Amino acid sequence: MAASEEEVASRRGIPTALECPKSPIPESQVSLVNFSDYPDDEIINCFNFAVNKIAEVQTDVMLIMYPVGPLLLPPGEVKNNDTFYKGAGFEPVMTANQVDSMASSMEKYLEPACGKEEAILQARQVSRFAELGGGQQVQARGGGSEECTKKAWVILSIDPSRAGPSRTLVTTFFHEVFHTVQARPSQPCNYSGAPADDDQFWIHEAGATFFGLEMAAELGNLNSDAVWWDHMDTISDLLANQQIGSELADPGIAEKGAIALRLLAERGQLETSEVMDGSLYQNCGGQPEAFSPQNIQVAKDNWFDYSEVSRGGGFRFSETALTQ
Ligand SMILES: [Zn+2]
Repeated sequence: MAASEEEVASRRGIPTALECPKSPIPESQVSLVNFSDYPDDEIINCFNFAVNKIAEVQTDVMLIMYPVGPLLLPPGEVKNNDTFYKGAGFEPVMTANQVDSMASSMEKYLEPACGKEEAILQARQVSRFAELGGGQQVQARGGGSEECTKKAWVILSIDPSRAGPSRTLVTTFFHEVFHTVQARPSQPCNYSGAPADDDQFWIHEAGATFFGLEMAAELGNLNSDAVWWDHMDTISDLLANQQIGSELADPGIAEKGAIALRLLAERGQLETSEVMDGSLYQNCGGQPEAFSPQNIQVAKDNWFDYSEVSRGGGFRFSETALTQ
């Protein structure tokens, strides 16, 4: 039998659990609503571990984690979904009390900045989706006033495959936390100079996954190349099996885009420190030249042009990709 991705990951030393060093940041930075089996302090340690990388934190964050049962078969969207969240349908396992408690925590979190009506609406959407067994990994923000848009929430559903060792949970956790640092989606950032910046979506998704992979490397005390090679290995298999295409679009936009950022970094066109401290993504600031139209084109045309140097010797971009 082929080794599972989790087995391969743990053999390579890539973390498969949210276990982070304690950090000096007080816990008040994050509000936690946790109905999963993950211990609160582990989640808070990992949140703080991530936020410590960020130069300037401009948002409040509520982390919402809840369990769902097994994926309902055949796989498909949540049934009877009357919310604006979308996701795969899992067996619902939240009790009525848990659903109420989730809603009231979120309402309390949002009300001072967003007003009662918005707070009730958002709280109801999130708790209802959890009640239905909705699978979800997302970051969202309040709307309306400036104050309310600084209120972010991250939702992570924990299905049985993520309750155990899960490399995906680790990178997804940091991916979603990073989204809370980026300019909000309703604030268009003109990264590439194109009139309607179609590149914002992949650049944001790519940055979040870039951050997630680097954080996983740091947690595992690994040279980050090892984590990148593992990632590039996975993606090249998906490309070879035509499970994903080479365009910087879904499926896999974040995973593919992260490799595109890595390419720009290796070409000397992107300062990764500004990805990691979030500054590239805040206030639509950062390095306009990194995402010049030429660089964007190079990234789109070449991000997948890499191969394994020798068995176990890592992955390297082609000379063309690096110097074109
Ligand atoms: Zn994302």
